[in-house]
Amino acid sequence: MDTLKRALKVWGKDAQMLQVIEEMSELTKEILKNVNRKKNNIAELIEETADVEIMLEQLKHCYQIHEQVEEYKTAKIMKIKKRLDEWESKK
Ligand SMILES: [Mg+2]
Repeated sequence: MDTLKRALKVWGKDAQMLQVIEEMSELTKEILKNVNRKKNNIAELIEETADVEIMLEQLKHCYQIHEQVEEYKTAKIMKIKKRLDEWESKK
């Protein structure tokens, strides 16, 4: 994780936050190729998912929001679970 903090320090916030966007768009493209064009691009999906996760780590560090993101995720997953339980109980 120190390497990612270092990247932020060396290359700066603005450059790294633009990199977040670039990596998300690369992942978006690969998902579209897979779903719309039925492309076998698992290697690219792996690579771009890793790239996005790396950049999201930097984003959380940049804005000092690790804890809040974790809390929101926990609450959100609970909501999704509730919706799934309701959905499945209707069947
Ligand atoms: Mg990439």
